[in-house]
Amino acid sequence: MNREQLSAEAPYLVLHEPEPDGRGNEVSTTTVFLTASQCPVGCNMCDLHLNTLPGATPSGAIARQIDLAVKDSQASWLKLYNSGNFFDPRSIPPADYREIAARCNRFDRVIVENHPQFGKNRLQKFLELITCKFEIAVGLETVQPRWLERLGKQMSRDDFSRYASEINRFGVDLRVFLILGVPGIDVVESVRWTRLSLRHAIACGARHVSIIPARSGHGWGGRANQLPDFSTPLLAEIHEKLLQDSDGQAVVTLDLWDVPVNDTGYSRLRQSNLSQHA
Ligand code: SF4
Repeated sequence: MNREQLSAEAPYLVLHEPEPDGRGNEVSTTTVFLTASQCPVGCNMCDLHLNTLPGATPSGAIARQIDLAVKDSQASWLKLYNSGNFFDPRSIPPADYREIAARCNRFDRVIVENHPQFGKNRLQKFLELITCKFEIAVGLETVQPRWLERLGKQMSRDDFSRYASEINRFGVDLRVFLILGVPGIDVVESVRWTRLSLRHAIACGARHVSIIPARSGHGWGGRANQLPDFSTPLLAEIHEKLLQDSDGQAVVTLDLWDVPVNDTGYSRLRQSNLSQHA
């Protein structure tokens, strides 16, 4: 969809898919890709701004978008992804929290994305309004300090760790996005750092870790042609390794954007641990 075709009155995408719950079950989940204002962080691998509004999100629009997305949903879990950060007031107006929370409360679990620099007080206000289990997904990407800086995350590994322990104190679950591969780094080194990053995410209490193989469509400041090449069988092998590393302490999924699933050679069991997300 072109940016000009986006409307603040409709999500730009809605997906219904099962998610592993970490206890051997699959949970029906609706993912709503909300049309909201642009994220101000500007990580250099991120192209989510393509799906955002030119100005602040109008008041009331997010609740109306959720209504549209979930009207026929039988899902137990809801993901609200706003191409940015849930507690960024320009993207999700705090005055709308009550209306949004009322919609969240018909689900067992609601998952949002947020960067540690946004809204600790706003998180507390929102928690007062919800009765469902709440989970925050944070894009740690990697624990390699130089890469983290190069990605322009505006967040250090320590910032992430502090935020993880803060939300844990509030009883909020943690989901972590990790990247697999950056430009100019070979496959072996990429896998090594993703394994170390997974270990750190789990040590910080992650309930779910989502691994995202770096994709050329994601910016990279003109260096996308230097990304390591992960064949589909290699991705399956890496995923297996990461599942073993996690030893059941966290759900570990592999993002399948752009991967031809039918050719993967993944077993049905492995497929149950896969996911797609923004
Ligand atoms: S990755 Fe997240 S924090 Fe970074 S620019 Fe994209 S939406 Fe913003």
